[in-house]
Amino acid sequence: MPIHEKSLIRKENLIRNEKLSLEGVDVSGDWSTFIGTRVITDYNEALEEEIAALPGGKHIHRCWQCGSCTNSCTVNAINPEFNPRYWIYLIRLGLEEELLRDKDIIWQCVSCNKCTYACPRDVEPEGVMKATAHWLEIKGHTRPSPSTIFDEEFSVQVFAKGKIEEGRLMRRFFTRTQQKLAQPWLVAIIRGLVSRMPIGLLTRLGLASLIHPRTQGWGKTRDAINEFVIEQQARQRQALGLAGTKTEAHS
Ligand code: SF4
Ligand code: SF4
Repeated sequence: MPIHEKSLIRKENLIRNEKLSLEGVDVSGDWSTFIGTRVITDYNEALEEEIAALPGGKHIHRCWQCGSCTNSCTVNAINPEFNPRYWIYLIRLGLEEELLRDKDIIWQCVSCNKCTYACPRDVEPEGVMKATAHWLEIKGHTRPSPSTIFDEEFSVQVFAKGKIEEGRLMRRFFTRTQQKLAQPWLVAIIRGLVSRMPIGLLTRLGLASLIHPRTQGWGKTRDAINEFVIEQQARQRQALGLAGTKTEAHS
């Protein structure tokens, strides 16, 4: 049986009579608060399977709605509207439209994994939150989050060269997220590194940022990774009803 909290009921669905008397009994205010009747016709019956097909989501079916994930959640402690238990409930029922009402906060999970340790059913709610945020992006309900953009840039470099070059990674990330490269914290780190690092190491780092060397014999590994990534992306898109749409490989 799902747990319902008053805070989860949309204000427009709450009916309250400030002045009501029934057969001479005053039932004003809280005594006459009801949840309005709703008829839902737009279920997405595949929603649970769609989330389960994405990395992190595969154990969502185990949830028994105990609420331990939400009770232990770092973000929920700051914002009560961030509610993993409730979103898992909506997903399992196929209530996509209800889920979409919270689409702008689901990505805020900070991956602390407190929910994962608290969950008695090994649902791995942190993974489900990530899968749900990923689902929102793939379906076009939200723009790619900064963490998705960072992951993409990181992956592009690793897949192509077998290693990352930090300067290039940060430049690409800041450009794509429309942020200034001269972030005060970054400038402070670079100043600290420059003042402490041996000159030889600094020279090697500078050269690497210009040349971006590749791991030796990386070609075959890159091809195998690309093949796997394309296969996984195609499988996920098929599960989400997006078969035939673009997948990415990295050269
Ligand atoms: S991993 Fe995310 S959902 Fe889980 S407790 Fe941390 S912030 Fe909350
Ligand atoms: S702690 Fe686990 S079983 Fe309990 S509501 Fe959260 S995901 Fe479901």
